Amino acid sequence: MPAVIDFQALLDQLKPSPKMPALFLGHGSPMYAITSNEFSKSWQQLGEKLPTPQAILCVSAHWETRGTTLVQVSERPKTIHDFYGFPQELFDVQYPAVGAPDAAREVAALLQDHNGHETMEWGLDHGAWAVLRHLFPAADVPVFQLSIDMSMSLADQYDLAAQLRSLREKGVMIIGSGNVVHNLHVARADDEQRDFALEFDHYVGNYLRDGDHAGLTGLQSKQTLFAKAHPTFEHFSPAIYVAAVAHEGDQLAFFNEHVNMGSISMRSFVYF
Ligand code: ZN
Repeated sequence: MPAVIDFQALLDQLKPSPKMPALFLGHGSPMYAITSNEFSKSWQQLGEKLPTPQAILCVSAHWETRGTTLVQVSERPKTIHDFYGFPQELFDVQYPAVGAPDAAREVAALLQDHNGHETMEWGLDHGAWAVLRHLFPAADVPVFQLSIDMSMSLADQYDLAAQLRSLREKGVMIIGSGNVVHNLHVARADDEQRDFALEFDHYVGNYLRDGDHAGLTGLQSKQTLFAKAHPTFEHFSPAIYVAAVAHEGDQLAFFNEHVNMGSISMRSFVYF
């Protein structure tokens, strides 16, 4: 027996689409939003080849919540400058994409059993706009963000994110923005790569390549290594969200595979 919905509900729903790629981008310094370097050039190159989605769902390391997952449902998400000590030029950046309230509400409904809720708070933080302004410089695709519930383990975050997998067939491009290794305490200017950073990055690459997602979330139990790679793990979680929306039969491509400033992995990947 089919569920009967009214005509407006039909119009409001996202149209089926060819499967959208899902992206994880290592974002690095906020300055890369306004810098042309090897990383931002790859984001640009990728953006030129991506299909145009109906909406972008962005999971940024810079929106953390505890005990709940929030979905941003406003029509006009504001550009948030969530950093300090950077040049005025960075504070002047605006990313004027509209929101995607209908898609966002659908996501909140999908996540009901995982404590998902709608919110008008937040907007687009720099984890989102620093990469989006290179990928989609015209800001002509609706964007909404999903927070990361940092009270959950990586395995639980994976299970939550798996609920979002079907969105890829409804015109939604899922973009995770964080870093596969992120330890600012020991970051250094000379770019000499730390052993723990290379080791952790290598594990992540291999688990993704092998499709061993239990191995990926299980990295949290390698306590000494995990604590070095992620003194706090909000920058790793977006990679878990993207791995969780991989489809059987997807192809996987890596790029920006470089440990930057000694302890920040810029490794990025795309399922398509
Ligand atoms: Zn960051």
